[in-house]
Amino acid sequence: MFRGMFLAAGDELTRQRATDVDDIKAGLLRILLGVKEQDLTDIPPESIIITENLTPSMTAALNKNNVRGIVTENGGRTSHSAILARALGLPAVLSVPDAVSVMEDGMKVIVDGSEGIVIAEPDKETQQFYIEKQAAFAAEKKLLADYAGRPTVTADGKKKEVYCNIGNISDAVTASEKSGEGIGLFRTEFLFMKSEHAPDEELQFETYKKAAQLFKEGSVIIRTLDVGGDKNITYLGMQSEANPFLGFRAVRYCLENKELFRTQLRAILRASAFGCIKIMVPLVTNVSEMRQVRQLIDEIKCELEAEGTNFDRNIQLGAMIETPEASMIADLLAKECDFFSIGTNDLTQYTMAADRGNPQVSYLNNVYEPAVLRFIRHIIKCAGEEGIPVGVCGEAAADPMMTPLLLAFGLDEFSVNPAYVLRTRYNISRWTKEEADRIADVAMTFDTAEEIEKYLKMTIIK
Ligand code: PEP
Ligand code: MG
Repeated sequence: MFRGMFLAAGDELTRQRATDVDDIKAGLLRILLGVKEQDLTDIPPESIIITENLTPSMTAALNKNNVRGIVTENGGRTSHSAILARALGLPAVLSVPDAVSVMEDGMKVIVDGSEGIVIAEPDKETQQFYIEKQAAFAAEKKLLADYAGRPTVTADGKKKEVYCNIGNISDAVTASEKSGEGIGLFRTEFLFMKSEHAPDEELQFETYKKAAQLFKEGSVIIRTLDVGGDKNITYLGMQSEANPFLGFRAVRYCLENKELFRTQLRAILRASAFGCIKIMVPLVTNVSEMRQVRQLIDEIKCELEAEGTNFDRNIQLGAMIETPEASMIADLLAKECDFFSIGTNDLTQYTMAADRGNPQVSYLNNVYEPAVLRFIRHIIKCAGEEGIPVGVCGEAAADPMMTPLLLAFGLDEFSVNPAYVLRTRYNISRWTKEEADRIADVAMTFDTAEEIEKYLKMTIIK
């Protein structure tokens, strides 16, 4: 009843109190049923986490050393639960219906992240199979160690870049330890999500500066606040929306909340004095958004100049291309941008009109869909014609079956989870342009994602 009353309230802040009622209800039920709440900081060794969703606050609290795997009920391959699990470097399987109710405390569970398989109470034979699989995985890891600290080059000697996707400074440290050549995507919203209020200019400045200092040789691409969609930040008091993924989010929100945006841009610009920082704008849909952001940056530059504060006067400004609209007008956007980065996670979701976190439509959420591949090819072509560099920072950048296609299309930079740097560098080193072109030419003749995937699997995974 109280929950309903809160939900019916006119203002968002009161409506959000419904979550508190849910929390109290869950707490009372736990006491009545005698269920002990799991303290994530004090999880026993060799644990497998089985949960509905993985959230940033959960991953922050988790004692990673004691966790061997993660299983969630929700979230697709490119959902934020999946991205967080990958950042932890742990095997994870998502979208397992009823996992929480079916699996019990103390059960023996196998989590095969490479195949997306979860096995509860495996028999002896299955256990043996997975012990061997684990050993083969460890051997491959050893082999890949050879690619650490090396430049990324194709089989015919073309220089490429493997950058990293990060959400905080500890990820940036991992990225540099794992031999990433730069940061291709700093998801700054995680900085905002982990606290009770928006981080001030000083805190943001120090964070971005540290990232820049870690990568003296490469670029650090900082994405401005990508709030909204599935990334709600309660204290920002955002209205609940019927279609949050199509709503007031990312650059749309920032351009309407100029003080918050200004603070972030000032922090990024100040940090740009300490390395090669670039600014990237999420969810750009038209040219006018890019122009508005550039104008704001120009105003802040004048401000900093007047104060005598140091910054990179030539700081580059790029757009994430992750909507069908931006893809279609990539030729126009390329004239407004210093670089592009293709967000294949959202680009797939919006092109296919299929929520990337909804398991029921995950069959549509497929980067091998001809429409998505054609968009990617078109975006890279437009960037090339305008002479600006282009990267991919969606999960497709780490997919070995996508590597020859992306090379054939002319991609410059692959931005991946730090755990995938060496494998991606190795995958790039396997192909000459001629071979990649041949594979892409055939792949692009098929009508369906299934045929494309089947062909790529047959040709690439040997
Ligand atoms: C993307 O959409 O591909 C992307 C890299 O951004 P995010 O996953 O944070 O939406
Ligand atoms: Mg995105």
